Amino acid sequence: MKKFYVRFVSLALALFFTLNCAGIGFRIEPNPGQAPSTVDISDQEAIHIQYLGTSGFLIYRDGHGLLTSPLYSNPSIFKVGFGRIAPDTIMIDRLYPNMACVKIEAILVGHAHYDHLLDVPYVALRHTPEAVIYGSASTGRLVSLADSSLIGRMKVLEQELSREGRPGHWFYLADSTLRFMAIESDHGPHALGVHVMQGEVREGLKKLPRSAWAWREGVTIAYLIDFLDDECQTVFRIHFQDATSHYPLGAPPSFAPPDTHRLDLAIVAVGSWFQVPGYPGKLLWYHQPRQVILGHWEGFFRSPLKSPRPIPYSARLRPFIPYVEANLAEDATWLLPKPGAVYTFLPTR
Ligand SMILES: [Zn+2]
Repeated sequence: MKKFYVRFVSLALALFFTLNCAGIGFRIEPNPGQAPSTVDISDQEAIHIQYLGTSGFLIYRDGHGLLTSPLYSNPSIFKVGFGRIAPDTIMIDRLYPNMACVKIEAILVGHAHYDHLLDVPYVALRHTPEAVIYGSASTGRLVSLADSSLIGRMKVLEQELSREGRPGHWFYLADSTLRFMAIESDHGPHALGVHVMQGEVREGLKKLPRSAWAWREGVTIAYLIDFLDDECQTVFRIHFQDATSHYPLGAPPSFAPPDTHRLDLAIVAVGSWFQVPGYPGKLLWYHQPRQVILGHWEGFFRSPLKSPRPIPYSARLRPFIPYVEANLAEDATWLLPKPGAVYTFLPTR
């Protein structure tokens, strides 16, 4: 009964705000902070980040890189609430970038909610056949149910996490030009303090769940991603989160030399930011990234073929942007990425 109540209240709220805000919501053009790709893309040192929408980012340099979990299927709110969800493989094939010259070796998954995981198994099979999928045990269960051939390509991270400020395990791409670390994080509420789809995906499921409500969150993970030079020194450091968290959960650990390096870029999650006091202000204030990308900002109940609009009710960009600016370092900039756009950055040494 309690479950039904939570689901009913959440859906009623989501529907109300969708209908209420769809026509009159705050409109903002993406990219107000920075124009995409201002650096010569032939530069082998340049780091490219393509926003795929929701929490998907293709992050690469000189033909090697990784992916954070994309979503193109965007099932409607009614399918999420009451129906069945499945990857829209035609939409994925249409929108996933053709990156024949970039070898994607890892897919980083922050948590197992459907908007972060639904499309991952198909993308891994069809578009990134060499990638290992990194995520929680719950993520691993859903990936294995989606396609048993992916079991050998799944790395479960619970034992490898950075916790309580102590560094975790570094994972390296094959050529050692990039490494990443998983960080224990958490997941804030969605609306009015209500946090849905919590808990673990239970063991022993026989079939991939078709209800979005069964794609339970599992352990939520943030990531630190380092691009390295020939001597394995960090030249560009990215912090990535696909959900709000209660600081210091999800924050980068403390490092000793030679691993110390200022954050060059923080990718934060916009959706429901105001549900967690201090998110992401504390992260920005204490870690002083040079640049910030405001991810997971556009509505994902509508087709990705339509022009993006902020998530109704939960993005609240009008107060969010001044709040981000108030917590930024003096030399830092932010940008709101446009789905499909490529942004280019130079290493900082
Ligand atoms: Zn989530």
